[in-house]
Amino acid sequence: MEIGGLQKLTLIDYPGRVAATVFLCGCNFRCPWCYSPELVLPEKIKRHLYPVKSRKAGSPEAKFNGARIPEKDFFDFLKKRKGLLKGVVICGGEPTIHKDLPKFIKKIKKMGYLVKLDTNGSNPMMLKELITNKLVDYVAMDVKQAQNSKLKTQNYDRAAGAKVDLNKIKKSVEILKNSKIDFEFRTTVVPGIHTKEDIVEIAKWIGGPKIKYYLQNFRPEKTLDPKFEKIKPYPQEYLIEIQRVIAPFFAICQVR
Ligand code: SF4
Repeated sequence: MEIGGLQKLTLIDYPGRVAATVFLCGCNFRCPWCYSPELVLPEKIKRHLYPVKSRKAGSPEAKFNGARIPEKDFFDFLKKRKGLLKGVVICGGEPTIHKDLPKFIKKIKKMGYLVKLDTNGSNPMMLKELITNKLVDYVAMDVKQAQNSKLKTQNYDRAAGAKVDLNKIKKSVEILKNSKIDFEFRTTVVPGIHTKEDIVEIAKWIGGPKIKYYLQNFRPEKTLDPKFEKIKPYPQEYLIEIQRVIAPFFAICQVR
């Protein structure tokens, strides 16, 4: 597995659990506001391996200093933290592009950890396989845009920066909604990509009485498309205003 980063401790990425986050290299999307170009753009993904112990624990570089972490170092780290950490968050890039993801997760589960998967929902087959085989305990799926944005130019492809098979995204939404697994949907709200109406459309699509949905404000820092570093985020109050409008569609709807 191509491991591009490791956050040794997180209290926020796995709801209710003390966890570590592992960042896998590679993504099939190119969201222009993406904060992790080092994990997404092939020309930025470093190919050399870097021993985890030589990284400064807890520093931002521990996540993204560019070098890859040997799988053995990652599992040695998990061995040492057993009992201290409850969960492992697997994020990217997009973890489900890796065919060996189920095998990788099996090894983590065998060590007794709970696993949370962060995904863009583009691989419903893999998602289904992971859920059916009880390899994931929590899934957070990014919903990038409404199925039909009110502005015709603001479609899913533009938000994802790539040609997206929307049927696959819809399928992933349905798989999660019909599963017994704990999950959430979330959207990073970006001026120029999303309007209030788009978020209302997303809410109508994914909403349901048991669904958790989180709005995340865009941060103009180290974006995949450098032009987005100049975009001013929506004021927090505006996101709260949207949250109030869409809250009736969900069990839980919050601004993060
Ligand atoms: S799906 Fe996630 S990792 Fe991939 S480009 Fe978009 S924001 Fe970045």
